[in-house]
Amino acid sequence: MTESRAYYHDLRDACAAGGCPLCSLADRSAESFINALLWETVTDVDARRRVVASYGFCREHGWRLDRPGGVGGAAILLADVIKALIAALDDPSAAAGGGSMWDRLRGRRGGVEAGEAFLAPAAACPVCDHVQRIEADAAQALLVCLTPGAHTLVEPFTAGNGLCLPHLRLTLAQPGKTQAHAALIAAQRTIWQRLHGELTEYIRKQDVQFRGETYGSERDSWERALKITSGPPPRKSSASLTQARVQ
Ligand SMILES: [Zn+2]
Ligand SMILES: [Zn+2]
Repeated sequence: MTESRAYYHDLRDACAAGGCPLCSLADRSAESFINALLWETVTDVDARRRVVASYGFCREHGWRLDRPGGVGGAAILLADVIKALIAALDDPSAAAGGGSMWDRLRGRRGGVEAGEAFLAPAAACPVCDHVQRIEADAAQALLVCLTPGAHTLVEPFTAGNGLCLPHLRLTLAQPGKTQAHAALIAAQRTIWQRLHGELTEYIRKQDVQFRGETYGSERDSWERALKITSGPPPRKSSASLTQARVQ
């Protein structure tokens, strides 16, 4: 299947690098999408309209626009958004929330719901949209690669840290052969069982009477468990770099 082949090498490399392979692919796809938006599509009218439709970006992806050489492009995109917001204030009936806020201000109808609807974007963050498509495609490809008979990824996947909880749920929700879902559950169980053993060992060595013992693979077990339940740590924006340049 072409789709699974397209992701095979990326998934294999991501498994070997540790961490959830879908988190890794999602992060890389967000990076390349943001780079394209800032450097290649800033003059693309449709791309700029798409950013206006969502009134910008979600918190995580918005702050990733702040990168060396990228703020000029960010300014162009955000100028469109601010202009659209001003237009919505001037003509609330043209905003995504329609005229309900206007009516509420005039005491006609509405209430909290009307207030919340006012200035609601017409679309989700464009980076989120893009990443969700990549995640779903990669999840389907992973299932194909874990299917018995085409199980080229079973070994590297099981040797790695497996999927984080949200991506495991996403992958199990994808259509596919029953054996592929069963293979994924079996591999993930092996990984979590191994991790639980390492956590137990880590906790034991935290005890004062075993403090002298050196740590092995369990050293970062708590961190891997955190990544499974909470996802990868938030990516730092380059705001600190910007501040360093100013100082
Ligand atoms: Zn993940
Ligand atoms: Zn987003």
